[in-house]
Amino acid sequence: MKYLKFLSYLIRHKWFVFLECLRLGVPWRGITHDLSKFLPGEFIAYANCFYANQHCSEQMEAPNSKESYMLAWLVHQKRNRHHWQWWILYGEENEPYATAMPDQYIKEMVADWWGAGRAQGKPDIIAWYQANRNKMVLHRATRRRVEYLLLHYRITGVGYEQGSAGIVNGLLINAMENHSLSL
Ligand SMILES: [Zn+2]
Repeated sequence: MKYLKFLSYLIRHKWFVFLECLRLGVPWRGITHDLSKFLPGEFIAYANCFYANQHCSEQMEAPNSKESYMLAWLVHQKRNRHHWQWWILYGEENEPYATAMPDQYIKEMVADWWGAGRAQGKPDIIAWYQANRNKMVLHRATRRRVEYLLLHYRITGVGYEQGSAGIVNGLLINAMENHSLSL
């Protein structure tokens, strides 16, 4: 049952991401998005984590479950260039260094956030971005592009939840607007 539930979530997620990729002009990224999640190594770990009787956060108490989910998530990031973690260089002598992401993957990443938000019933992705912004290690050009795209969504987001008033009036949007001027 948990496998069917995860399969149905995955298909719904892929559908929403595909729609967003279409809007951003990268349909092929939408078609191939997250296909690796159908591979057993990812599929089983994700289904076990999110759709078993016991939720992932409780299972995390058990080292084995935690390890298998963490490994699946790590492998997923290494297989899929729409995750910003793929673009981080870890050296022995330097801090983690973010290389610039090509535009098609930036668009797929933003589409992923919107698609996941819609699939989970939490469409205010600008609020989500603001809460998570400082946890992401992004190249300067990548961050500027991401924020430009989020701003673009706010303006043209037909049928979408618009960002909450607090955020629209807040620093994020100001920063995004300043960045977009220089594009
Ligand atoms: Zn992914």
